[in-house]
Amino acid sequence: LGGRITHAIHQMRNVTIIDEKALNECLNEITRALLQSDVSFTLVKEMQTNIKKIVNLEDLAAGHNKRRIIEQAILSELCKMLDPGKSAFAPKKAKPSVVMFVGLQGAGKTTTCTKYAYYHQKKGYKPALVCADTFRAGAFDQLKQNATKAKIPFYGSYTESDPVKIAVEGVDRFKKEKCDLIIVDTSGRHKQEASLFEEMRQVAEATKPDLVIFVMDSSIGQAAFDQAQAFKQSVAVGAVIITKMDGHAKGGGALSAVAATKSPVIFIGTGEHMDQFEVFDVKPFVSRLLGMGDLSGLVDKLQGVVPKDQQAEYLEKISKGNFSMRMMYDQYQSLLNAGPLSELFSRVPGVSAQMIPSGSEAKIKKYMTMMDSMTNEELDSSTPKAFNESRIMRIARGSGRIVREVMELLEEYKKLAKAFSNMKGLKMAKNGDMSSN
Ligand code: GDP
Ligand code: MG
Repeated sequence: LGGRITHAIHQMRNVTIIDEKALNECLNEITRALLQSDVSFTLVKEMQTNIKKIVNLEDLAAGHNKRRIIEQAILSELCKMLDPGKSAFAPKKAKPSVVMFVGLQGAGKTTTCTKYAYYHQKKGYKPALVCADTFRAGAFDQLKQNATKAKIPFYGSYTESDPVKIAVEGVDRFKKEKCDLIIVDTSGRHKQEASLFEEMRQVAEATKPDLVIFVMDSSIGQAAFDQAQAFKQSVAVGAVIITKMDGHAKGGGALSAVAATKSPVIFIGTGEHMDQFEVFDVKPFVSRLLGMGDLSGLVDKLQGVVPKDQQAEYLEKISKGNFSMRMMYDQYQSLLNAGPLSELFSRVPGVSAQMIPSGSEAKIKKYMTMMDSMTNEELDSSTPKAFNESRIMRIARGSGRIVREVMELLEEYKKLAKAFSNMKGLKMAKNGDMSSN
């Protein structure tokens, strides 16, 4: 989805004069992309009409602002599609709430349950986890392990096969223990089947959850709408969490999930670890969907990596596409220091985790040693002059490496610099929104 939309907008960027025809072509391309992603036809149609209303070509003075207006219109319509017009139930402290997690097996329920509990625990809640998945062997062990790691009380059984019974017992127990956020993890099965939905209906009926959260794997693509709708039809889904946003998927399925459940996305999962969990923020999500890169997220990541007084300059450089060797050096340093660099890079269009030298610390250190043998000029130039033979030899000698390794480093740099140059033209506005020229 993201790719096609980006393509459509890029094509439009190349058209000097925006006329009715160019606008229609762009809209048609986007429409096809959204339909392919199973966003409901009605919604897409609505969006198309709205954009045409906003972008009244006749009213626009000839000039450079048209493209900008069309882009903004598409952006704001996509944002609207992600906004069901109501917020999700928010648990209150010191008042018991029951939150039930549903979704297919492998969607990330058990992982996300713990993340959700951990997130609230840090905010001062008293969460507890109940394992009502009696279908999958090992389900209880998995929850137990997660819960123990986060020091969150849990309940489950190795022998009881009735999920409803365990769910009720667990909820009752934690209510007595004055937990204010009781989270019920459920089973998923491999595919959508009647018995699963009947089980979900029964667990919900017995535990009377204040909120049912539908957990969806961002990579399921076109299946999103049907899957979300199937769960919505058996239980009162009130919120959506999209997982595995650290992978390749841009999360286009979120549009379908929101449309099918009429519920907001509240969090996204960005990794397997407990703290790889973010409050859903519609604007950066849509920017990412459009392949525009999440500059505000980038700013967050830069905190603590680049000294505060240098951040503006750093972003300015990135937005100009000026990626120097030294910046690469800094990135490697932050990676070694703890920085989840892959997260940062996943927000920049065209840059992916694969571009980081296969994660191996040894390799990064090796690259850094070679960079240590470069001159300041070589490090700071954003368009490094051809590293000729004598320079390469000098660097190799200085760092005790061989020529081939220096060449490998230069290749790595070229890849990154190219990816960053895709960001050229992106600008940071005062409010953290991004825009383009
Ligand atoms: P469940 O069957 O719905 O309970 O799914 P699990 O919680 O067991 O997750 C299935 C797999 O997905 C596990 O290997 C998780 O570690 C992994 N997983 C869950 N959420 C994320 C995420 O946000 N990112 C990544 N990379 N992996 C995830
Ligand atoms: Mg599970």
